Amino acid sequence: MPEGDTVWLACRRLHAALAGRPLVRAELRVPSLATADLVGRTVLEVVSRGKHQLFRFDDGRTLHSHLRMDGTWRISHAGRPPRGGPPHELRALLANADQVAAGYRLPVLELLPTDEEDRGVGHLGPDLLGPDWDLDEAVRRLGADPGRAIGEALLDQRNLAGLGTFYRAEICFLQGIQPRRPVADVPNLRRLVDRARRLIMANRERPEQTSTGDLRSGARSYVYGRAGQPCRRCRTMIKSEEFGPDGQERLSYWCPTCQP
Ligand SMILES: [Zn+2]
Repeated sequence: MPEGDTVWLACRRLHAALAGRPLVRAELRVPSLATADLVGRTVLEVVSRGKHQLFRFDDGRTLHSHLRMDGTWRISHAGRPPRGGPPHELRALLANADQVAAGYRLPVLELLPTDEEDRGVGHLGPDLLGPDWDLDEAVRRLGADPGRAIGEALLDQRNLAGLGTFYRAEICFLQGIQPRRPVADVPNLRRLVDRARRLIMANRERPEQTSTGDLRSGARSYVYGRAGQPCRRCRTMIKSEEFGPDGQERLSYWCPTCQP
């Protein structure tokens, strides 16, 4: 699943392709939006909020989408067929005279009044990549459920928005915290959250995510995706397990020595 930095970068590219220009073609292929007409509307901006995308139009409406597991937006030049999957997986197509943005496999797609965007994203905690990032509020929300595992709390977008399994694994490693440790037992929650923000901010301008500073394939993480391989610090075998709320279990990675 794309994490906040990947969505942020996608929105920046969508903004560059679409903003400030009227749509000459607009198709929303979900039943509830079949009659929505966006042709002639100008895209004011495309912004991310956590892992959500918001396309704001000049008529006071916002198109809200979320990629979930395998959704994607692809940008291509007008006149070329969009590439992002078979045509029956296309859910949204927004085009101006030069550029086409095509959204595939979008499980969430809705039109909202821009001043009511909170109906789609109001449940989210502070956005790690947002202009209104609020460290104190994120720490407060995480601390509100002290018995919950830190690895689970970090993925709950109502606490703070943007983190996924890569950052969960890497931040817990960098702080020496086993992901199942209760929030109440994390010695410096504020430092952990601040580190998460600095890491995701550092990665947002590029498609690759790294916590090691190394961009080479296979060298970008300390523990994420490295189950059964030796820890880069202590050579202990990295472990992994699925955990999380029922139905939302996700793979977690840790070093048993560095993260006791
Ligand atoms: Zn280790």
